[in-house]
Amino acid sequence: MIDLRSDTLTQPTEAMREAMYKAEVGDDGRTNPNGVGEDPTVYALETFASNLTGKEAALFCNSGTMANYISLLSYCKRGDKVLLSRKSHIFRSEKAPFMKGLFGLIPVFYEENNYGIPDLNSIEQIIDSEDIKVICLENTHNYYGGTCIPLDTLQEISLLAIKKAIPLFMDGARIFNASVALNNSLKELCMPVDSLTFCLSKGLGAPVGSLVCGKSTFINKARSVRKLLGGNMRQSGIIAAAGIEALQNYRVRLMEDHRKTRMLTEKLRLNSLVTIDLNKVQTNIITVDFSQSGIKSNQIEKDLFRRGLAVKRMDESCIRLTMYADINKRQISEAAEILNKYIFEIS
Ligand SMILES: *Cc1c(COP(=O)(O)O)cnc(C)c1O
Repeated sequence: MIDLRSDTLTQPTEAMREAMYKAEVGDDGRTNPNGVGEDPTVYALETFASNLTGKEAALFCNSGTMANYISLLSYCKRGDKVLLSRKSHIFRSEKAPFMKGLFGLIPVFYEENNYGIPDLNSIEQIIDSEDIKVICLENTHNYYGGTCIPLDTLQEISLLAIKKAIPLFMDGARIFNASVALNNSLKELCMPVDSLTFCLSKGLGAPVGSLVCGKSTFINKARSVRKLLGGNMRQSGIIAAAGIEALQNYRVRLMEDHRKTRMLTEKLRLNSLVTIDLNKVQTNIITVDFSQSGIKSNQIEKDLFRRGLAVKRMDESCIRLTMYADINKRQISEAAEILNKYIFEIS
């Protein structure tokens, strides 16, 4: 089986396993007099993350979902309004923030183009007429196919948010992919936002973990919310050690994934029924659109699975192919062959 469902499928490398084995650990659920957790390896990872993103502090969490929850709950309480993308991971996949019986926040959506780039005028209109507690961005944007929000757009939104004194948050689960694709440093891309989260467990290849990054006061709040949600971990330096290793060579690692993505895209033989919007292929994700073929994506998922290729359905008629470290050239050729045969048969 060639499994292209997600970059969360990455297996930890030998170097990560070695680092985990040797990690010096402590009880991260307890804080020392400086207010940081007592696990030295977690603290080293948090320091590394805050330096990379140019933020004052960082907090290690067990998942991107948890990191996003912690961020939202650090800014908002029940009934507060959150301005975000209607196709955001937070709204579409995570859901809990907006469930009445859970966190009870109210979603408000800005307009965006076909690539998930928020419309500045729409944001301005909304924040002028509604009491918005936090503005959320997603970079890269998962449901739009791993598209990047460019630096100038981030800066424009940032100026607006500063002018209106509304915090700007970024779900940067794949912000490292954006940094590589846009050729901007991570710091540059994080500068416009007040806080962000990113995942170690996707293309970066670590087995577990995400970070929340932001101002010290925000991270202190986030630390207490993490505890409330049951997110405190104990000798979590064991997993943080793999995270540190994952961050060492991220640029090389992800450039390779993006190269493989272009390679697979070029090998596909598409037609008028099965298409790819090449402008969406910016990072490690390919979205294949079958809408003109009339075949539904859950059927396509099953058909391809039977032929040895696992893909992920994104909506009614689109599937996603995702590249990551463990996929080799031979598998890319095989995946292309399986897809091309299938496209030929249904056309
Ligand atoms: C994967 C993802 C998350 C959640 O991360 P998990 O570690 O799977 O909980 C959040 N936001 C985006 C955009 C993602 O792609």
